[in-house]
Amino acid sequence: MSPTPQETVLSYAEAAECVRRHAEKLRNRARAIEQAPLLAAAGRVLAQPIAADRDQPPFPRATRDGFACRAAEVTAGTLRVAGQLRAGERWTKGMLASGDAVEIMTGAAVPPGADCVAMMEDVQVSGFLVRHTGGKALAPGENIVDAGMEARAGSILAPEGRRMTVPQIAAAAACGYATVAVFARPRVAILATGDELVDVSDEPLPHQIRNSNSYSLAAQTLAAGGAPRLFPVVPDDTAATEDALAEAARMDLVVLTGGVSKGKFDVVEQALLRRGAEFFFTGTRIQPGKPVVFGQLPEGYFFGLPGNPLSTMVTFALFVAPLLRALGGESEAGPRFATARLEEEIHVKQGLTRFLPARLESDVKGARVRPVAWHGSGDLAAAARANGFAVTPETAERVAAGEMVSVLLL
Ligand code: AMP
Ligand code: MG
Repeated sequence: MSPTPQETVLSYAEAAECVRRHAEKLRNRARAIEQAPLLAAAGRVLAQPIAADRDQPPFPRATRDGFACRAAEVTAGTLRVAGQLRAGERWTKGMLASGDAVEIMTGAAVPPGADCVAMMEDVQVSGFLVRHTGGKALAPGENIVDAGMEARAGSILAPEGRRMTVPQIAAAAACGYATVAVFARPRVAILATGDELVDVSDEPLPHQIRNSNSYSLAAQTLAAGGAPRLFPVVPDDTAATEDALAEAARMDLVVLTGGVSKGKFDVVEQALLRRGAEFFFTGTRIQPGKPVVFGQLPEGYFFGLPGNPLSTMVTFALFVAPLLRALGGESEAGPRFATARLEEEIHVKQGLTRFLPARLESDVKGARVRPVAWHGSGDLAAAARANGFAVTPETAERVAAGEMVSVLLL
């Protein structure tokens, strides 16, 4: 039998810190850059900042429908309506004359000389005269955002390393970015190991199971900004695993599942060792996912995740996703948690940080979480009813209904 690596079992916090340290090392490495059309950039990581191409707003913008005027004058009495301005129109009559107001629409440029907009709801109009009848006196600046108040030309609206979501897409569009520079997605080799596995499209014999982990891992890889490549299932054999690793190590990150426990045919760690791997940890005090392995081959980082489907999901979210996001240049690497009120007591196991499949629901008042009944880390059906994993800390003696708990988000 081949040698196995020295055992290093860490607490959850220590293992997370270990991954974070390695993720940090990746921050300044050189990465390939692609130009993506703006819409295709949703979910991608910015390789260059989005900068304002001109002041935002570019002109003093009316934020209400109403009358642009001088605050001191409209508070004192009736004004004369000197014209109308729609959004997209330019005022061409020069400085607003004393005693004048201009009817203005939301989004239009306030004419020079006006210092506020009296809201339509607060004025009375009769013919060409307008009077402020609303509650409190108007102050200069009211209902106007001055040019450059939101951002000055050249200032950065979204930094390099930020993932493009809805607001960054809007900012890029507003600043004229038809394409944006994004980092290339890191390529992730996904290797499922196990003699019992058949592919999703094959008919399993009664004692076989379908390889679901490669697919859940591919989905998690995509969500964390990586490009998954699914390798053929690897049998529980050291030489076969070594061969598969030789090919997989050409990718940017290697993720294996199965074969990292203590069984006679769990040979993944031996194969890794034979390919020159250094191990940062070979287990963590978490449940599910205890046998998770993290280390570095001569070519790059690898994770060996346990094969039970919930262990695979949890350990990816906790450890692989943060490293992968960092590999992809993302500055906020995670993992991602929400805080929610627990609706039902959950059982703790002292000495283990537990991640229990749970259903998170939220509304404007906050988030609630209810554990999903499960039969251990192989219970795919329970996972399918869940949308996160409620966390019980290693040191907790009890986690009661009504308490606020963390929920690991997938
Ligand atoms: P292992 O980590 O290899 O000991 O596997 C633990 C459990 O997870 C066993 O019941 C395996 O059959 C199951 N398993 C391992 N790999 C996969 C996979 N790729 N897809 C689904 N289940 C798996
Ligand atoms: Mg196995």
